[in-house]
Amino acid sequence: MQTKTLSQALAACGSPDTIIAAILQHYPDLRAPVQIEPIARDAGIADIGDLEEKGIVCTSLSDMTKTKGAILCAVGLAPQRRRFASAHALGHFLIKAHRGDRHCTNRDLGEKRTDTPQRKEEMQANRFAAGLDRGNLCAVPAQLGLDTLVQFAGHFRNAPEIRTSHAKHSD
Ligand SMILES: [Zn+2]
Repeated sequence: MQTKTLSQALAACGSPDTIIAAILQHYPDLRAPVQIEPIARDAGIADIGDLEEKGIVCTSLSDMTKTKGAILCAVGLAPQRRRFASAHALGHFLIKAHRGDRHCTNRDLGEKRTDTPQRKEEMQANRFAAGLDRGNLCAVPAQLGLDTLVQFAGHFRNAPEIRTSHAKHSD
């Protein structure tokens, strides 16, 4: 029996991690792949729709107080990418310090830098999205985001074959 609504629980949260913790507490049976839409609706997102705007992967819209909002995702995204994009946009809506109206590109959805306020907010939205998508915050260590791990794995997959045969020294 819930004593608080999700929106009430989220009102006390400031960081991506505390927001995810509140969501996990609210939905104890959450399992990956997490369906973002029902969570977004409980959190105040009235509409989740499609977007056809060149270069934009997802958009979040909200009223001034961020009590009601909408999320739009580019048409044609693969299901996993769409889940991540909606969760990223939901992150902007739920993280209090972020502006609620955002138009995010592919680059934003891969942002890991924190050297400008804008990049830091994109990184926080990604951290939220990666944690929520897994339904398990423990899967996203603080210093190493999921995207980093995926890139890391990709890097090795694309690396030239390591040769163990005798190599000549060129110097
Ligand atoms: Zn963003």
